[in-house]
Amino acid sequence: MTAPAPQSVLEIKGLRVAVGGKEILRGIDLTVASGQVHAVMGPNGAGKSTLSAAVMGKPGYDILGGSVTLDGADVLSMSVWERAVAGLHLVMQYPTEVPGVALDDVMSEALSARGRGGSDIDAVLAAEAERIGLPTALLHRALNVDLSGGEKKRNETLQLAVLGPRIAILDELDSGLDVDALRACAQRVEALTQPDDVSPGLGVLVITHYNRLLTELHPDTIHILVKGRIVAEGGPELADVLEADGYAAFSDEVDEPAPSAGGLDDLFAPPR
Ligand code: ADP
Ligand code: MG
Repeated sequence: MTAPAPQSVLEIKGLRVAVGGKEILRGIDLTVASGQVHAVMGPNGAGKSTLSAAVMGKPGYDILGGSVTLDGADVLSMSVWERAVAGLHLVMQYPTEVPGVALDDVMSEALSARGRGGSDIDAVLAAEAERIGLPTALLHRALNVDLSGGEKKRNETLQLAVLGPRIAILDELDSGLDVDALRACAQRVEALTQPDDVSPGLGVLVITHYNRLLTELHPDTIHILVKGRIVAEGGPELADVLEADGYAAFSDEVDEPAPSAGGLDDLFAPPR
C-alpha cells in the first residue's frame, strides 16, 4: 500500500485589502484544504474578485493586515510566479487573450518550470481536450483569441487539470458559458477534488453569485461575502436560502446592488 498523498492547506487569516486607497476586504478568515470545495458568494462589488486578486498577488492591491499561507509558507511575500509554482492556481473571470502564443506552448513551458516537462505532453493535452469537450485544433491556436465563452472556460479548465495545482480559485467560472460547458467544466473540477494515489484532491475556492454552478460542483461550505466581510457561513443549504431571499437575508448592510461595472473583472487589467 502506498502512503496517502500529503494534504495542502490554504489559510487566509484576518485579511484586509485596500484598492485605490479604499479598504475593500475588511478581515477575511477562510481555510481551504485538499479535496474541499468552498464557495464564496456575494453581490456585485462585495470584494470577491479582490479576494482572488489579493491571494494571487495582482499588483495594485495593498495588504493592510492579516496573512495568507499555503502549507505554512507565507504566500503574501511570494511573487505571482512563485505562488503558481507553490501550487496556487487562478481561473479568471474573463480569461486573457494572448495573441501569438498557443495553449500547447504555454502548457509545455509551465510544466517544465514545475519540473514536469516531458515528451508525452501532446498526448496528455489531447486526452484532456477530449475529456472536457474542447476541439483539439484549439490547442494549437493562440490562447483564448476568438474563442467562445464556453471554449475559453473549457480551455481554462483543461489548463487546471493538466497543471494539477494544490489549491485553485475559480472566479465566476460560470460567467459567459452555456449550460453544457458549465456542466463539463464543473464535472472536471469535481473529479479533480477526488483524492487518488498521487494527489490528495484539489482544494477549490469557487467564487460565484449564482447557484447554478453549485448544483454541479457540490460545495462543502458556503461563505457569504457582503461589503468585504463574511457575514454567514454554512453548508450547501445556504445557497437555497440565497436563492429564495437574496443577500438581504444575511446582512442589514446590504442596500441596492453595486453596479457591476464597478467590479474587478479582468485580473490583469491595470488598477483603476
Ligand atoms: P466582486 O467581484 O464581488 O463583484 P470586486 O472585488 O471586483 O467585487 O470589487 C469590490 C469593490 O472594490 C467594488 O466597490 C469596486 O468598485 C472596488 N474596486 C475593485 N477594483 C478596484 C480598483 N482597481 N480600483 C478601485 N476600486 C476597485
Ligand atoms: Mg468579481
